[in-house]
Amino acid sequence: MLKKFLPNEHVKSVFDINPEVLKSKGIKGIITDLDNTLVAWDVKDATPEVIEWFKQMKENDIKVTIISNNKQERVKVFSEPLETPFVFSARKPLSKAFKSVAKQMGMKKEEIVVIGDQLLTDVLGGNFAGFYTILVVPIVQTDGKITKINRKIERRILHYMRKKGKITWEE
Ligand SMILES: [Mg+2]
Repeated sequence: MLKKFLPNEHVKSVFDINPEVLKSKGIKGIITDLDNTLVAWDVKDATPEVIEWFKQMKENDIKVTIISNNKQERVKVFSEPLETPFVFSARKPLSKAFKSVAKQMGMKKEEIVVIGDQLLTDVLGGNFAGFYTILVVPIVQTDGKITKINRKIERRILHYMRKKGKITWEE
């Protein structure tokens, strides 16, 4: 069970995820989290860096969909200017949103990576649904209310896995 909390890969930031590398691995699509993955949870709009990242993905024919547990207003205001599909109130880690998005993207599981900053929602959900998962370091160390509780559990899992030698990345 604990294995399901382990990402396939761990990077510092989404900006370390390069479209050419993805393409060389046969990846055609990205399902990404929003809060603390693309921007800080309390930042409303995409930053120039995020806009550039989406542009690069588009130029490389990599489709991006945002899946967030956050409310419609938040996810819509952020995603629409980027002209990217989005799902709000996704109820991660449940598989439903992940699976229906993969279907909409018209891709196989093997062609999609799931990116996010939380083990309990993004990584667990992505793993459950059978995708390749990439964990990023949260953009800021503060969180919304629900996430604060998740982080406590997450720290325990990380501590345990580090002790067991299952995690090799640095904090
Ligand atoms: Mg997040």
